[in-house]
Amino acid sequence: MQAVLTVDLGAITANWRALCDRHQGGAVAGVVKADAYGLGAVPVARALREAGCQHFFVAHLAEGVAVREALGPGPMIAVLNGFAPGADEGAGLVPVLNSLPGLSAHAAAARRAGRPAPAILHLDTGMSRLGLDAREQAALAEDPGLREGLDLRFVMTHLACADEPDHALNAAQAARFAAACARLAPGVPRSLANSSGLFLGAGFASDLARPGAALYGINPTPGRPNPMRQAVRLAAPVLQLREVPAGATVGYGAAWTAPRPARVATVAAGYADGYLRALSGRATGCVAGRPVPLVGRVSMDLITFDVTDIPDCAPGTMVELIGPGRTPDDLAALAGTIGYEILTALGARYRRAYLPA
Ligand SMILES: *Cc1c(COP(=O)(O)O)cnc(C)c1O
Repeated sequence: MQAVLTVDLGAITANWRALCDRHQGGAVAGVVKADAYGLGAVPVARALREAGCQHFFVAHLAEGVAVREALGPGPMIAVLNGFAPGADEGAGLVPVLNSLPGLSAHAAAARRAGRPAPAILHLDTGMSRLGLDAREQAALAEDPGLREGLDLRFVMTHLACADEPDHALNAAQAARFAAACARLAPGVPRSLANSSGLFLGAGFASDLARPGAALYGINPTPGRPNPMRQAVRLAAPVLQLREVPAGATVGYGAAWTAPRPARVATVAAGYADGYLRALSGRATGCVAGRPVPLVGRVSMDLITFDVTDIPDCAPGTMVELIGPGRTPDDLAALAGTIGYEILTALGARYRRAYLPA
């Protein structure tokens, strides 16, 4: 008996189309890094490609190679963390150039090869993580010959606070980006918004948006109703049921004490499967539409629910852990994290079922 993670590819492609409608005048990429936020980069990228998506972003070179193998030639696959010239070994991946030395290396290799090298120029406008910083941008402005040999497909920046619409850094980054693009890469298409950036208004439109989380159902507008469709369900089977007397304790640390004679269901999922230990004593599961409280600590492979009020719960009954009413964002709020972390933590031990797009 195994837990089942169901990924709704139809919801993901519907979310992509909804974001395309929202991003008037610009294209919308699919960010499929970290195995498409834990949901499976190959099936997700294939579904998005079928839906018409032509630009993909991954973080690592190896992720890009796998997505290229799945999609074949055609769509742009960009590697956010960059890679050394030639390291993609003919996979036709586009490096994101995150520093001046990186840019120079790719430009020099292209000049040696006598063939323009596709690349994306990343400008840091306030994230202070990757991308050419202010000093590097000034150096590039001074010597535009540095980028000779590069075929710049896009110039991009990344917003630090897009999920806080009132944060002053949003407008500041957009303004810095516009000025830097005009100075360093006039005429090169621009890429600005992530998921939440798409909801900041017209000033954040660009030639290519780069949403990830919203495709997978994470709310890009925290604190407001979620405009996206849920894409994930997780259900795990009851292994055993036991009757415990009032006063009995359950699990590590004896953290839960039965307040009355209770029936406890032991379910096959735990923190090794990405069901975070911080959910201990906080989350609920769902059995046949009825909520059941998680009791005691989440352990590595097992969790326990109080099913006293669900008489028909039996070994093999599936307990829904993620679904309507307990979305990744809901679990994140209970665990003190963000939905992104809930999704990317989803473990490797589930049977994965894909609902067709
Ligand atoms: C991860 C990432 C994205 C996607 O962000 P979401 O918030 O998931 O939409 C876009 N751009 C860059 C540079 C990223 O690292």
